[in-house]
Amino acid sequence: NIMQAHDHHQDDAAAPSHVAAETMIELTGVNKWYGDFHVLKDINLTVRKGERIVVCGPSGSGKSTMIRCINRLEEHQEGIINVNGVALTNDLKNIEHIRKDVGMVFQHFNLFPHLTVLENCTLAPIWVRKMPKKEAEEIAMKYLERVKIPDQANKYPGQLSGGQQQRVAIARSLCMNPQVMLFDEPTSALDPEMIKEVLDVMIELAHEGMTMICVTHEMGFARTVADRVIFMDGGQIIEENAPEPFFNNPQSDRTKLFLSQIL
Ligand code: ADP
Ligand code: MG
Repeated sequence: NIMQAHDHHQDDAAAPSHVAAETMIELTGVNKWYGDFHVLKDINLTVRKGERIVVCGPSGSGKSTMIRCINRLEEHQEGIINVNGVALTNDLKNIEHIRKDVGMVFQHFNLFPHLTVLENCTLAPIWVRKMPKKEAEEIAMKYLERVKIPDQANKYPGQLSGGQQQRVAIARSLCMNPQVMLFDEPTSALDPEMIKEVLDVMIELAHEGMTMICVTHEMGFARTVADRVIFMDGGQIIEENAPEPFFNNPQSDRTKLFLSQIL
């Protein structure tokens, strides 16, 4: 029974120690349409501070749309989205507030090609946060060191490998000091040998206590890092569970089919 699988989580044993009691993100009864197409169907999801969520599911199931709604890259039509205590409404002040708290990393990096790595990282802190240039550069270098590419600071994105570009994208997000990081298939455009260097950065971030929602099909990552794995299909959350029961004892036939295709 699908709903039982979904509800089961509520009864789970105590949360891991890195998960705080406070709610960081809450979606309640969220529905979204693209024209006539009902893309998100009654999404309910609570993410607590420090929690790491992996979202998986077939292509077209609404994973990107769901996480893009969380920082208003897409607009939902029904339901409530709350981020760090602020409701996502048409109020521009709220949207701005939420975007400051939420970092996002995309499949295709989305770096500015005409800016250097360092300039990519300092642009928003300088222009959005009004940070002095020197301070923004110091912070950027700190994060470029964290993602292990300080030596690439003065290059342009096109001169970097895909794995390096994605690490720049992560560093750029971190420069805004986000409370939550959203990852939308951050490794799926990468050559296999570069996947690990990006996942390693994400794992480190998780261990530093970052609240994360990661859309990914890297099931090794999900097993080691996720507190909860969420499976979406047809615009719905079909099943969610801790990684161990999710992978070893999936409840829904759709989850079983999906896992049989990717594992
Ligand atoms: P996923 O990330 O799980 O692959 P998406 O959220 O990207 O799924 O897409 C879900 C569905 O919505 C797909 O059928 C897709 O074609 C459709 N879709 C996505 N973006 C748009 C859009 N801007 N306009 C119309 N349909 C869209
Ligand atoms: Mg997607």
